[in-house]
Amino acid sequence: MEIADEVHSSEHTLNGKTYTGSCFCGAVQFAVRGEPVVMGYCHCESCRSWSAGPVNAFTLWKPEAVQLTRGEDNIGTYNKTPRSYRKWCKTCGGHLFNVHPHWDLIDVYAPVIPDFPYRPGVHVNYQETKLRMKDGLPKMKDIPKEMGGSGITMAE
Ligand SMILES: [Zn+2]
Ligand SMILES: [Zn+2]
Repeated sequence: MEIADEVHSSEHTLNGKTYTGSCFCGAVQFAVRGEPVVMGYCHCESCRSWSAGPVNAFTLWKPEAVQLTRGEDNIGTYNKTPRSYRKWCKTCGGHLFNVHPHWDLIDVYAPVIPDFPYRPGVHVNYQETKLRMKDGLPKMKDIPKEMGGSGITMAE
């Protein structure tokens, strides 16, 4: 009985595995649980301009999978559009999330959850790319059809 219980509980733990994340200075800490809905790279102008980087490694989660554990008051928000509420730490400026209300999903930037096994599956907004990445993954011109885009793919 005890062994069976143990197997059951360890399977449960695997299914709902938790990964911790934080901003650059550690004032804001959080955890993600389970699996994201989709992972990939975004090449759009907005992601590049805000991050000051050539590409954004995204992991999109249901809101209930993301839990703040420290420093909630220390989070700043900027929304240039109602589709993206970009969040960062007010102390270090480190980026944390991008909340997308219209999809009911939160982008947790892959680099802020270092222990999470990031497995990108798609490139989005590749028509705007400044950094071609020849990794064999599909390159969407904008975004997948099921997320409101054209669903058209492009050459790498
Ligand atoms: Zn910080
Ligand atoms: Zn983007």
